[in-house]
Order: sequence, then structure tokens, then C-alpha cells
Amino acid sequence: MGSAEGVRKRHTARPSGTDTGPKAQNGQLGNWGRAWEVDWFSLAGVVLLLCTAPFIVFFFVMACDQYQCSVSLVLLDIYNGNASPLSIWNQAPSLTWTAAKIYASWVTFQVVLYMCIPDITHKFLPGYVGGVQEGARTPAGLINKYEINGLQCWIITHVLWAANAYYFHWFSPTIIFDNWIPLLWCTNILGYSVSTFAFIKAYLFPTNPEDCKFTRNIFYDYMMGIEFNPRIGKWFDFKLFFNGRPGIVAWTLINLSYAAKQQELYGHVTNSMILVNVLQAIYVLDFFWNEAWYLKTIDICHDHFGWYLGWGDCVWLPFLYTLQGLYLVYNPIQLSTPNAWAVLVLGLVGYYIFRSANHQKDLFRRTQGKCTIWGRKPTFIECSYRSADGAVHKSKLLTSGFWGAARHLNYTGDLLGALAYCVACGAGHLLPYFYIVYMTILLLHRCIRDEHRCSNKYGEDWKRYTAAVPYRLLPRIF
Ligand code: NDP
Repeated sequence: MGSAEGVRKRHTARPSGTDTGPKAQNGQLGNWGRAWEVDWFSLAGVVLLLCTAPFIVFFFVMACDQYQCSVSLVLLDIYNGNASPLSIWNQAPSLTWTAAKIYASWVTFQVVLYMCIPDITHKFLPGYVGGVQEGARTPAGLINKYEINGLQCWIITHVLWAANAYYFHWFSPTIIFDNWIPLLWCTNILGYSVSTFAFIKAYLFPTNPEDCKFTRNIFYDYMMGIEFNPRIGKWFDFKLFFNGRPGIVAWTLINLSYAAKQQELYGHVTNSMILVNVLQAIYVLDFFWNEAWYLKTIDICHDHFGWYLGWGDCVWLPFLYTLQGLYLVYNPIQLSTPNAWAVLVLGLVGYYIFRSANHQKDLFRRTQGKCTIWGRKPTFIECSYRSADGAVHKSKLLTSGFWGAARHLNYTGDLLGALAYCVACGAGHLLPYFYIVYMTILLLHRCIRDEHRCSNKYGEDWKRYTAAVPYRLLPRIF
């Protein structure tokens, strides 16, 4: 406890918002990232999420299990007194040994792949960046190293899945769907365990005490995390592991399991299910292909590891990001050919904007601006910031290409892709549209949070940037 407590005292002794040291030009001294102090509004949001998020997941999954994914039927039944939240809860299948064994094997397998098989794919795949890579500079000024082998883990897992489905038949390809609700309990056990462990670890044996943040509010610290990059040993990085695997590797397997269930139930797989599988698989593969780039995104280089990431990655992501596939098992929709094409084009256009915008920023940062964006030399704003050790660092904010049109067109592309998954499910029910509503809230909140952080980090330079690129998500609109 000694070292963490020491850091806490040093940090909380600093008056909030009036950081010592020069900040007007360079932003606040090592004081970007999540908040040091919690306002009542943020605290209320945190408590609300802690109390409601598990029930939101439960509600949607049970709506499918008991009401064919019809949210309005659930609400109507509750309204008419034919059901109550308690009766729905009582009908939910409980935890089973089968599900516990499946989940324990799954997580163990992913840990083994992550820890024991160093990346070799980068030696064979041209353009792919894997193996040991450096993350971004933390507020305390550290640069962590990561073993990037997510693509390899994804490939091994899916090759084994295909080998089982077509050759070995050790288990049914519908195994995930068939154990879906018992698996929900297992993922919750892991999600809460890992978040609680990370919380306690931050007090007892933090990995980098200089990068811990304590607000003195237990709910906020539990949810938003205290440690920045908790690790066990040199390489087991909580954020990289839980963000990427087991949730995102599972995403495509879950969808395949839904497709297999459709085949089993109806004798065929609908074009909407194929579209959802293909578009989401592109997104997942993109994530793993760009895992090294991902080290520079907000999740890894700004967020602390708490319940938000720990529970969110174990439970929220696999259950709610796959709602479309689940819906299509209960409501097999065959889209007309023009509609199917429209969904595909929307999904691909969204993906193109998302990927190109992210690529432009990455290329620009990697080459220090010595590159071309849309065939021209990039324009940018020079800026500087200070880390907690007082050192001044230079940086650049791109103002051309997608980043000249709006400050977060990568989010806009992501939202278009998300909309495509939803419209693939037709217009019959609300449930598949939860994803676009959620993503819109998530990315809007993220945009505002990130801009607040950048403003703290870059100070006046950030103001020059927002004056040069005045729109956030939609040029000339927002
Ligand atoms: P960004 O990749 O947009 O990263 C934001 C950071 O980039 C800023 O904090 C700043 O960091 C830097 N930056 C901002 N503007 C510029 C600029 N003009 N030029 C150069 N650098 C700039 O955000 P995220 O990490 O949130 O998202 C990455 C992707 O992941 C997005 O496409 C998003 O849609 C997706 N995503 C998907 C989620 C999902 O659940 N499906 C969840 C979250 C994200 P610095 O301090 O280095 O200057």
C-alpha cells in the first residue's frame, strides 16, 4: 500500500484545475486522462451505470429468450401485469457446469495464446505490424511495451473452430447460442472479479504507481479505474488482453454460432445473417490487423482500467454487440436483393470512412507529417504538452484529409457501419437498433471527453486547432 498511498498523497495535494507549473502554452502538467476529482454529475452517471448496465444486458438477452426479441411485448406484458421483472428473472436459466467449463476453457485458451505464443504472423503478412510494440507515452512519461499477437490468436481460434465444425465435431457449432444465458452468468463472474481485483491491486501492488489516479470516491475509482496499465509480470497487460480478447475474438465466433443455429432451425442461413457476419467480421479483423495502432487509441493510452473496461469487455461487448445475430436467430429475415445491396454498401462506406480516417491520423503521426494525405502534403498545427515529470513534448494535430473536414470523422464512419448492422435486421423490432443508439451515445460522449482531455493537454494549441477545424462529427452540421 505504501507506494500507491504515497502517490495518492502527492497527487491529491495538487490543487485541482490550478496546476503548478506552466500550462497556458503547453496544457496542464501531466494532467490529462481521466479526472482527478469527481463532480456530482459524473458520480451520478457512474452510480447509475453500475446499477443499471448489468440489467440492461439481462433485459435484452431475456427479451430474446422469452419474447422472440420483442422489447415492446416484454413491456406490454409487464404493463398488463402478465409478467414482472421478478418473474422474468425467475425464468432465466441459471448457471450450469457446462457453461462454466466452456467459459473457463475459453478464457484459459485465450490467456495461453496471448502469453505463450509470440507473434510470428508479422513475418509472413506484408504490411501487418505485430510482435513487440511500444504504446503511447503515459501521463507520467512512461512508454510501455506490448506483445501484439491478436491477429494470430484470432486466426488460430477460428481455424480450430472451422476444423471442429467441418472435421472433428468435438462440439456443436451452436454451442455458444445453446449456452447463451448460462454463459452470461460466467462472463459476469469474470467481469466483476477482474474489476475488483484491479481495484484492490491498485492499492496493494500497482504496476506503475506514478500513473495511478485516486479521486477518493470509491464508486468512481471502481468504475473508471485507478491503475493506468495494470499488469501481472512483464507481459500480462490487463487492458490489451481484456479489450481485445476474450471479448473481441469471441465476437465473430458468437456470430458464427448464431448462423449455425439458423441453419439448424430453418435449414438455411438468411442473407441478413450473412451480412451481419461479414460486416462485423471485417470490423473485428480490422481491429486485430491494426492492433499495434490500437495502442495509440483512447482505450489503451488514456483510459484507466476499472469496471468500465473490465466488466464492459467481458459482458457488455460480447452480449450487446452481437444482438443483431441473436435477433436473426429468432426472426430469420431474408432481405430483398436491392435492400441487401443497400445494407452492404452502407456498411462498406462506413467502414471505408472509419478506416481511412484512422489510417490518415496514424500515417501522419508515424511519419511525423512526412507523408501525403489525399495526394497532398498534410497541413497541421504544431502543439506541445508537458508530462508529469515536467518534460515538454512536441506533437502535431492534422488539419487536412478527413481530419480537416471534421475532428472525428472516424466516429462518423463507425456509426454508419453500426447503422448497417441494424438495418440488416429490417424494421420489425426495436431491439436490433439498440446498438446504433448505444454507439451514438458512446461516441458522442467519447468525443466530448476526448476534446476535454486534449484541451487540458494542449491548452491554447487546442483552441487554434478547433478554430481551424470547427466541426466534430458532421461537416457544416455538428
Ligand atoms: P481517436 O483515434 O480519434 O483518437 C483520439 C486521439 O487522437 C486524441 O486524444 C489525440 O491524442 C489524437 N488526435 C485528435 N485529433 C487529432 C488530429 N487532428 N491529428 C492527430 N491526432 C489527433 O479516438 P478513439 O481512440 O476513441 O477511437 C479510435 C477508433 O476506435 C475510432 O474509429 C472509433 O470509432 C473506434 N472505437 C470503437 C468503439 C467500439 O466500441 N466499437 C469504442 C471506441 C472507439 P493525442 O493525445 O495523441 O494528441
